[in-house]
Amino acid sequence: MNSLVVMSVFAAAVMLRLVLRLWLIGRQIRHVARHRDTVPADFAGTVSLEAHRKAADYTIARQRLELLTTAWGSAVLLGWTLLGGLDALNVLVREAVLPRWGDLAYQIALVMAVSVIGSLIDLPFDLWRTFRLEQRFGFNRMTPGLWLKDAVVGAVVGAVVGVPLLALVLWLMAAAGPLWWLWAFAALAGFTLLMQVVYPTVIAPMFNRFQPLADEALKGRVEALMQRCGFRAQGLFVMDGSRRSAHANAYFTGFGASKRVVFFDTLLSRLTPGEVEAVLAHELGHFHHRHVPKRILMLMGVWLGSLALLGWLMGQAAFYTGLGVQPNMLAPNHALALLLLMLAGPVFGFLLAPLTAASSRRHEFEADAYACRQASGADLRAALLKLFQDNASTLTPDPVYVRFHYSHPPASERLAALAGR
Ligand SMILES: [Zn+2]
Repeated sequence: MNSLVVMSVFAAAVMLRLVLRLWLIGRQIRHVARHRDTVPADFAGTVSLEAHRKAADYTIARQRLELLTTAWGSAVLLGWTLLGGLDALNVLVREAVLPRWGDLAYQIALVMAVSVIGSLIDLPFDLWRTFRLEQRFGFNRMTPGLWLKDAVVGAVVGAVVGVPLLALVLWLMAAAGPLWWLWAFAALAGFTLLMQVVYPTVIAPMFNRFQPLADEALKGRVEALMQRCGFRAQGLFVMDGSRRSAHANAYFTGFGASKRVVFFDTLLSRLTPGEVEAVLAHELGHFHHRHVPKRILMLMGVWLGSLALLGWLMGQAAFYTGLGVQPNMLAPNHALALLLLMLAGPVFGFLLAPLTAASSRRHEFEADAYACRQASGADLRAALLKLFQDNASTLTPDPVYVRFHYSHPPASERLAALAGR
């Protein structure tokens, strides 16, 4: 491999992705703006012009912010890599930590420094999104105090969970021989499965309060539905999502005996019992079709491929120099290699976005079809229409943008598929 070739391919990929993304965002903004003043015929009786305009304005405002963050993200990526940011930071951390604390501490410190700096760089955009954009459209319920608490707890949990895992992977890279990537993959896969149990029971409760569903009538309906579907959960919980946002949702987490169903309080307050049942039936459709294990499997396939690739790239000097970093002479390069994979990988992974989005949309249709068999299709339609409106989702997205970015089918397609049942 030649350093100049790596550099050119990477720079070209970054530019291609940037242009493609900006083009898609531009399409979405223009398409939504063009349809802002007419409610689509299918929704003429059910959606007011005012709600339709609000959805258009909200979508456009979010896409404008997206334009900025996309351009900024590409600049930051080039800053880390070809412009020498990671290289400079590496020299700094290496000289400060390596002589005193050794190889592993130096590498962990480097990864942590990059993630802290990365978060600080994104901070203004996060703040703007929450306290300006979401606020303006009446979705934000977060106070600055709660935001700060979330940030601190999130960072601490991230470090407590992430540092031991990172240390394990770095140790495997150094000690497990040429097939280290298989071992590292096994460690990551085991960790992911463990988190399926730990996240809902230990981590999520640090951010939200989960109370058992108290409404007996609703509980009876939901339990009857779960019995029909052959779904056993450890409990039905209501989450205080309204503390942070007015957006509504329902989901189930965990697997095996740790499965639990979670309703946002914002969902329960807006939907009738029949509609809640239909939304849960949709979630159970994901369970019935094993969508979560399929997703995890797909993700693990990507990881395995990436780690195997890294196993080869790590030994190529051009991999480092081509991405703007001088490899260490007297210290391991494992952390550098991992960081470069994390920075550069998504640039190429972007080409997979339409595939994963399409598979996710297909799953949504499957779950909707299942929900219609187990609960009322009319209730599901009514619930979705309310949720689309409450979340100010546009009814008129750009079709090309949808193909690339929508993990859920747009309202028109989804309701049309339901109407056909
Ligand atoms: Zn779904």
